[in-house]
Amino acid sequence: MSTLTIEKLTVGYGDGAPVLDGLELEVPDGGVVALLGANGAGKTTLLRSLLGLVPARSGRVLLDGVDLTRLSTEDRVRRGLALVPEGRSVVVELTVAENLRLGALWKHRGPARDVAVGQMYELFEPLARRRDAAGHTLSGGERQMLALARALVGEPDVLLLDEPSLGLAPLVVAQLLGVLRDQAEATGLTVLLAEQNVTGALSVADRGVVLSLGEVVADRPAAELAADPALRHAYLGF
Ligand code: ATP
Repeated sequence: MSTLTIEKLTVGYGDGAPVLDGLELEVPDGGVVALLGANGAGKTTLLRSLLGLVPARSGRVLLDGVDLTRLSTEDRVRRGLALVPEGRSVVVELTVAENLRLGALWKHRGPARDVAVGQMYELFEPLARRRDAAGHTLSGGERQMLALARALVGEPDVLLLDEPSLGLAPLVVAQLLGVLRDQAEATGLTVLLAEQNVTGALSVADRGVVLSLGEVVADRPAAELAADPALRHAYLGF
């Protein structure tokens, strides 16, 4: 079980106005929730705050009812949270295989680590072909696959992703989002997916949540949200 519950979360930078203001959200076990909103709506701030990278001014973050709010980032990761930040972050000096072993380092030892890495090659076939290639030689799509695989190989319960489809070709986007959907169904992975690619995100999500001015202004089944032109126009700009 890995339900993420966000209660009255208020987050801001310095003494500025809050970016998130009493935000309430639940991401259910094994569900995929698309986190939508215009530029600057606070999606990145929410993801970073869930990991403890930006402190909460007030409110709580719970994982299966356990309060994480006062825990360090390291402890939150140990409890099952993982973040794939915006920008395809991999260690570009290391090979694909080395990046994956690094991702598995804290979770698996010896042969179990190789098994976990091998599972990533099954999920992302292009990475298997390029296992000995250095990170800096990868295409944008391959690099994003590696960033996602490096998070998955640590077997998180809750995966937070910040704009994974940014700048990628539609085919690669479909493949990446498809893996998230499959992992949620097959392993019970809970996914919170921040995206500007509204159509892509809603196509794999169970629910769509729209952030505006620091609050959740819509929280609806994904198909319903995708079919609501008034809402799309008001908050998502198309
Ligand atoms: P985008 O899609 O453009 O990344 P977003 O929805 O992820 O947008 P955030 O990056 O969370 O939004 O930004 C929300 C607000 O917080 C913006 O007004 C932004 O200027 C502000 N902000 C973000 N990071 C910082 C920071 N380190 N210091 C001060 N203000 C910040």
